Amino acid sequence: MQRIIFHLDLDAFFVAVERLLDPSLCGQPVIVSPGTARSVVSAASYEARKFGVHSAQPIAQARRLCPQAILCPDNFKAYQKYSRAFFKILAAYSPDLEPASLDEGYMDYTACTRLFGPPLPQAGRIQEQVREELGLDVSIGISSSKLVSKIASDLAKPAGILHVLPGHEADLLSALPIRRLIGVGPKTEPRLRQLGIRTIGELARLPRGLVGQAFGDWGFGLQDLARGQDDSAVAPRGRAKSVSNEETFAVDTTDVGFLKFALQRLVCEVGYRLRQSGLRAATACVKVRYADFSLHTRSETLPEPTDLDRVLYESGERQLGRVLTRRVLIRLLGFGAQNLETGKGQSNLFDVSGHDRLGKLHAAADKIKKRYGYDSVSWASLKRQDVE
Ligand SMILES: [Mg+2]
Repeated sequence: MQRIIFHLDLDAFFVAVERLLDPSLCGQPVIVSPGTARSVVSAASYEARKFGVHSAQPIAQARRLCPQAILCPDNFKAYQKYSRAFFKILAAYSPDLEPASLDEGYMDYTACTRLFGPPLPQAGRIQEQVREELGLDVSIGISSSKLVSKIASDLAKPAGILHVLPGHEADLLSALPIRRLIGVGPKTEPRLRQLGIRTIGELARLPRGLVGQAFGDWGFGLQDLARGQDDSAVAPRGRAKSVSNEETFAVDTTDVGFLKFALQRLVCEVGYRLRQSGLRAATACVKVRYADFSLHTRSETLPEPTDLDRVLYESGERQLGRVLTRRVLIRLLGFGAQNLETGKGQSNLFDVSGHDRLGKLHAAADKIKKRYGYDSVSWASLKRQDVE
């Protein structure tokens, strides 16, 4: 059966939320940033991007490029609130949903066509509902695979829908530069260029034998992707073996404050997905990819399986400290929760004999969150100021 996969991605998400909070920012070049002298751009509006401003750029450089830009401090709580509302809307369209970050996710629509009809009108309805209820624009890519849909949603920006019909996946990818393909980084790209390959289509057409000679088995997988062949499944919530989240920075960085803030974002999303799935993690891991493409990972067994942001973050921060041993620019940061088990309810809350006061406190707060809304309780140490 031909799969129908949606990739849904909110446009300029942080900036769009800032504009909902302060409509005078509409139409203006806006830069979202933690705001300290050494910090970097978290997000930039399309108006600011025209001047060459982009995320992860040092703030001083961004201000030189676009002095008229309005600076907004990060407002992570508000971003989380809108993110949750976004995924709540999507969950009504298909149960097979995989959040990829705060503002984007995959949806497997294959089984829904009988109930809801063809995907394109449905994508239009999702766009309308997200705009009406949240005031946000979402771009949507539709195709038979996650890979192609992600590229399609990017090409559809802003506020567009791109439906790649079955059989045309490779056509869409063909003219794109090779670096747009997942798995092609600064090491692989020059090697592909040596073989005269600049576009995804050129890799797709390369004789199989040559691909094997140059890159081995790994190259075959890469060529399959270049041909638009990607079978990876949309991970339905609750069936995951691990929950992880990572971010490739637009510009490599050594800024520890920025890394901790990025880690916080990654952890909060992983924690949220664990709780949504009724899962707890026994192990937490941190992954760092340096600019030279070397990969360093650390993992640690948690005192007890948890789905709580603060416990996960504390472990993540410890491991980040251990992994940052080199003064080399960092390209990617990831956080993962592993060895998942189904949550044993609110055991901490009723464990009167337990000595883990913090655990009980977390469980109680989580219960309040569930009852009165996620934002009713926040952890002081998870506020951005404290991780600078
Ligand atoms: Mg986005």
